[in-house]
Amino acid sequence: MPNLSQIMDTFKGKKIPDFTPVVPIYHTAAALGAGVTLKDYASNSSKMAETMLWAYNKFRFDGVQLTLGVGMEAEALGAKTEQAEKGLPTIKEHLLKDILKLKQLKIPDIKSAGRMPVFLEAVKIVQETIGRKAVVIPTVRGPLVLAGQLRGISDLMLDSYDNPDFMKELLDFCTELCFCYANSILENTGVRAIAFGEALCSPDFISPEFYKEIMAPFHKKLVQRIHAVGLEVAIIHICGNILPIFDTFYDTGFDTADIDAKTDLKTILKLNKASKKTLGLRGNIDPSWLFQAGESEVKEKSQKLLLEVGNNPWILSSGCDVPYGTPDANMSAMTSAAKK
Ligand SMILES: [Zn+2]
Repeated sequence: MPNLSQIMDTFKGKKIPDFTPVVPIYHTAAALGAGVTLKDYASNSSKMAETMLWAYNKFRFDGVQLTLGVGMEAEALGAKTEQAEKGLPTIKEHLLKDILKLKQLKIPDIKSAGRMPVFLEAVKIVQETIGRKAVVIPTVRGPLVLAGQLRGISDLMLDSYDNPDFMKELLDFCTELCFCYANSILENTGVRAIAFGEALCSPDFISPEFYKEIMAPFHKKLVQRIHAVGLEVAIIHICGNILPIFDTFYDTGFDTADIDAKTDLKTILKLNKASKKTLGLRGNIDPSWLFQAGESEVKEKSQKLLLEVGNNPWILSSGCDVPYGTPDANMSAMTSAAKK
């Protein structure tokens, strides 16, 4: 039986012989199986916790990951959100349509702002229930995604050309905000790992040069501070092919990197082996494939992946969020590939 320290060690980049933890990015999809509506999941902490505990018990995962969606932090700052039936709340109107408003934004009291209390309480319940045997991973948005949620993604991309000074000022604010959210989660729930969602840092959105020169220093500062206040495992999640920016993660100090399905696995494994500091790697089953594949195909693909990663510190997971409606049988098939 694996114990929590073996799970944590894998996330920190140490391979435990004959053991691969299974911790997929599986949250809203679990609501369907747990019989919880997404409206309840996103507004009621006991329902969110019930959903995650259902997934943990049903699929024998080694941990769970919770999120309240990309709009959570901006909502806590005052942005209005709306929620579709099969999704999490999203921002209706961006708070920084007018860049002059940045000066008026203040870091809120995170314990009472927007839906943060719902999220904090849900994470706390899950941590108290399973946190001694499994890793509980809340998701917060990284500085660039936060900036996108406040300013609007297309305006933010234009700012990077037209108004780089404003963009840096905004990123400073968002890095502070991200730290405060993560720190508040840490203080109020006792979790040992946090995932930082930075989809906008994908080479699909910004150039690798932009990531390395502009974003990586913000990430480094953030990770240093959050480690200093006691976080054990900082996970970076960037969608798409992250190979062009992967080497930066060693310097920024993240412990685990999520590897999406589009990234060339062989090269990543080679880089990680050759590095002095080894990262925990998590992935990389394509979530849209997982949604429509057959049970036996999922088991076969997961087993093949485990052979390929060999003695790398690997956590078996989807490369990105498991879509709502993914069959339970496919999640079971993934776990069974890793458990004897
Ligand atoms: Zn992703």
